[in-house]
Amino acid sequence: MESETTDRPAVLLVEDEPDLAAMARDYLVRDGFQVLPAVDVRAGLRLLESAHVDLVVLDLGLPDGNGLDLLRTLRGRDNPMPVIVVTGRGEEADRVVGLELGADDYLVKPYSQRELAARIRAVLRRSTATPPATTAIRIGGLVIDTGAREVRRAGTPIALTPREYGLVEFLASAPGQVFSREQLLDNVWGSSSRWQAATTVDEHVYRVRRKLLAAGVTEPRITTVRGFGYRLDL
Ligand code: CA
Repeated sequence: MESETTDRPAVLLVEDEPDLAAMARDYLVRDGFQVLPAVDVRAGLRLLESAHVDLVVLDLGLPDGNGLDLLRTLRGRDNPMPVIVVTGRGEEADRVVGLELGADDYLVKPYSQRELAARIRAVLRRSTATPPATTAIRIGGLVIDTGAREVRRAGTPIALTPREYGLVEFLASAPGQVFSREQLLDNVWGSSSRWQAATTVDEHVYRVRRKLLAAGVTEPRITTVRGFGYRLDL
């Protein structure tokens, strides 16, 4: 283990606004985290190489580039490091790209420090949860491999982000049952509509549908139940 002085989770905080960075750092340190501050993409990457990091909080608007570049570099190395992206208002496009690149969660400025800490805890909890025993759920033309966390059609994996996979797996746990957005946020995101916009669910459903169709999967499909939520249908 890299550090024997503390078992506090180490958060790499990539944020260029000094006031925001200081506020977040103070709160998180008081709340039991170790904080490694970085003011730009380059400093963030350097710390990722040299220090032990458990989670990255990543502002996207940085002086030497877009935080998405850092996320891309991480995911390009197949690095499962949990990442929470932070965007300003009016940067929805970046947020969506961030989620597609595999960000685990996002926050829109201005956010409360308490919310930041709660999101970090939730993401860390999920990423360190004991993996479930390996089983494969067969449903329609799909095999959902819960060990590999992979969805395959005719032996070929469909490229889903971890969250998209979680959504499919959860819906497939009870085909035909309708789940509300709130239930999906709770079970798939480990969050609630207090923290996370319910439209996040819609965005993910939209992308999963697109990917399943692109892979030639017509069944199962995710059906919208107007006024209630979603269900997986055969
Ligand atoms: Ca910024």
